[in-house]
Amino acid sequence: MTTPPPARPLSATERTRHRRLREQGRADRAELDSILAAGFVCHLGVTVDGTLMVVPTVYGADDGTLYFHGSVASRSLVAAPGAAVCVTVTHIDGLVLARSVFEHGVNYRSAMIYGVPRPVTDEEEKLAGLRCLTEQSAPGQWDYARRPSRKELAATALLALPLDEASVKVRTGPPDDGDSPDAELGLWAGVLPLNASWGTLRPDPGLDPAIAPPPHLVHRAGTAAQA
Ligand SMILES: Cc1cc2nc3c(=O)[nH]c(=O)nc-3n(C[C@H](O)[C@H](O)[C@H](O)COP(=O)(O)OP(=O)(O)OC[C@H]3O[C@@H](n4cnc5c(N)ncnc54)[C@H](O)[C@@H]3O)c2cc1C
Repeated sequence: MTTPPPARPLSATERTRHRRLREQGRADRAELDSILAAGFVCHLGVTVDGTLMVVPTVYGADDGTLYFHGSVASRSLVAAPGAAVCVTVTHIDGLVLARSVFEHGVNYRSAMIYGVPRPVTDEEEKLAGLRCLTEQSAPGQWDYARRPSRKELAATALLALPLDEASVKVRTGPPDDGDSPDAELGLWAGVLPLNASWGTLRPDPGLDPAIAPPPHLVHRAGTAAQA
C-alpha cells in the first residue's frame, strides 16, 4: 500500500481565514495546485490611479509562483509591481438547483491569492515564465511556434506572484434543502453539471492546406477541457 503524500497546509493569515461558508474552505496546498493547474485564466484585482480594476488575464503556475504577462503599456501590469494585488481563479462545475431560490448555488472550485508581484527582468527567467504561461493554456505550442524575439520580449511585461498567501474554497454535492420543510413542496431539485470541452480545429482561412495541424493540437481537439 502506498502512503499518501503528507498534507502541505496553506498558510492561514488574517486575510485568508475563512469566515462565511467555512465548510467550503480547504487548507491543503494540493487543492490550490490542482485548481491552478486546471485553468489558465485568472482575474487580477489591482488599484490603478486610485481606481480598483479587475482584469481577466492568462496565467501560468509553476513551483510556487503565478506568472501573468501583457504589454509594457498595460496599466494594470505597470501598476502591479510594488502594489498589492488579489488574483482569483474560478472553475464552475454545476448549478445547484434547490427547492427554494434562497438555497440555489454553484458547485465550484476557486482560489484567491494575495501578494505583491515582482517584475521579471532577467531574460532567462522571463523566457521560462513565458514558457510556463504558454504551456499552461496551449501545451506543446512553446516548442512548436516561433519563440519571442528580443524586441517582443522587451515589449512584454512579465510579473511573478508568489503563491505564499492563498485561500481555497470548493463546493460540491446536492442542494442543502433536502432535509428542510421545502423538501415537501414536491419540486425537482438537484445539480445541473457544467462540462467544458474543446471543439474541432478550424484552420486559419489563409492557411496553406498542405500544412497539417501538429499532433498535440489534433489530440486535444474534442477532448474535455480541464477547467
Ligand atoms: C462562481 C461562484 C459564485 C458564488 N456566488 C455566491 C453568491 O451568490 N453569494 C455568496 O454569498 N457567495 C457566493 N460565492 C461564494 C463567495 O465567493 C464567498 O466565498 C462567500 O460569499 C463568502 O464571502 P466572504 O467575503 O463573506 O468570505 P469570508 O469567508 O469571510 O472570506 C474570508 C477569506 O476567505 C477567502 N475566500 C472567500 N471566498 C473565497 C472563494 N470563493 N475562493 C477562495 N477563497 C475565498 C478569502 O481569502 C477571504 O479573504 C460564490 C463563489 C463562486 C466561486
